[in-house]
Amino acid sequence: MPTETKTVENYVEKPKTLAELRADLVGGKVKAADLAARYYDRIAEVNPRLNVYLSLSKERALAQAARVDALAAKGDPLPPLAGVPVGVKDVLVMKGAPATAGSKILKGYQPPYDATAVSKLEAAGAVLLGKLNCDEFAMGSSNENSAYGPVRNPVDTERVPGGSSGGSAAAVAANMAVASLGTDTGGSIRQPASFCGVVGVLPTYGRVSRYGLIAFASSLDRVGPFAGNVRDAATLLGVIAGHDPKDATSSPAPVPDFAAESDKPVEGLRVGVPAEYFAEGLDAEVRANIEKGIAGLKAAGCTVKPVSLPHTRYAIPTYYLVATAEASANLARFDGVRYGYRSPASETLAGLYKNSREEGFGAEVKRRILLGTYALSAGYYDAYYRKAQQVRRLLAEEFLRVFADVDAIVTPTAPTAAFKLGEKTGDPLAMYLADIYTVTASLAGICGVTVPCGATAAGLPVGMQVLAAHLKEGTAFRVARAVEAAQI
Ligand code: GLN
Repeated sequence: MPTETKTVENYVEKPKTLAELRADLVGGKVKAADLAARYYDRIAEVNPRLNVYLSLSKERALAQAARVDALAAKGDPLPPLAGVPVGVKDVLVMKGAPATAGSKILKGYQPPYDATAVSKLEAAGAVLLGKLNCDEFAMGSSNENSAYGPVRNPVDTERVPGGSSGGSAAAVAANMAVASLGTDTGGSIRQPASFCGVVGVLPTYGRVSRYGLIAFASSLDRVGPFAGNVRDAATLLGVIAGHDPKDATSSPAPVPDFAAESDKPVEGLRVGVPAEYFAEGLDAEVRANIEKGIAGLKAAGCTVKPVSLPHTRYAIPTYYLVATAEASANLARFDGVRYGYRSPASETLAGLYKNSREEGFGAEVKRRILLGTYALSAGYYDAYYRKAQQVRRLLAEEFLRVFADVDAIVTPTAPTAAFKLGEKTGDPLAMYLADIYTVTASLAGICGVTVPCGATAAGLPVGMQVLAAHLKEGTAFRVARAVEAAQI
């Protein structure tokens, strides 16, 4: 008999917590420069297999590490993320580093500025290791739409890490970064975090500046952190959140100390469980783990009660109209003239546009541009786009009604654990349904956290989604901490 080749490997390695890293740094046990070097070694070792990083920003990272070490040597107070190695999803720009958005059409583009979230991280002392793989223009649920190849799930390399921020989730799960930045338009932070067994945050719309984010759907796009535990995710959100004059949609609301909020006990909090998220299509093992998580919340003193969000079933069609309409407008700027890839063989200007877009965009991106253009076209606008906007309003109002009665809502983050590479690539609708539990909160603009909540018999992580009303991230963190502490 031929010997079986081993194809499934596990690269999971828990990163240190921010508190541990800080103690090491302040105590002189480790230098930021050595830490960065160690992370680059780890990346060199496992990236060929996992395809998590698309580019490394070593020079910038080492210069920052040296700055942190100089501060530490002088005994100066260290900023909150001093020396913390962080990766950045490749839809956020970093000055001088390639920004591909996972697309061939941006190949060779070097942005001349930093995204606000990126500069805030660096100002807080973080060491930016490089740019992370993702689905093309953040469109996808498996990272298989990247023009630079899929990311493999560090828990099981035959499976997808989720998407579109697959690289951001996998980087933390495989300890190729202590934390990372991703973006979430319809689930792209929450679903991959859940598939890879890490914490992911969907901040309230407007909480984090979108300046320097390569836009997919501007009324839905959010920038948020991934981390190995809830408290660290809360610290990171505190660093990147806040009003930014460069993003007119960013909220002027004060930014609380999210980490301190997450420390508060959950006793007395009212937690809603919506029946619509536990219906047909939910995997039995995922359900069993989420139910254990809910039991853990009860044991911690939460009042758990059933709630109803009856319009939930309209969320997927609504999302795929709003998101594609906005994408068709946002992606019009990639014309072969201003950024990245230009088709070499065109004789006219119109031909250059056409060929550059034809050759530069992948199949899913083209599908979305077509769908969105159709939904916005004269004669269809009222039937599709306007209707979708009206349903979006109903979905938001429905959440607000429920949040009058409960402090948080808990659901599974995704209907299944991580699926196999290639399993859904031939069926776009099946892929879209991977977001069935995440898109509604996206449309409503509310916030949430996904926290690991047990695993299937095969060892695949399950995530619980904790949703809270606008600007109530602190409450979502508190509840997520209790689920984490329950060790499902
Ligand atoms: N999977 C969803 C989509 O393809 C969500 C993507 C995202 O949140 N960026 O649109």
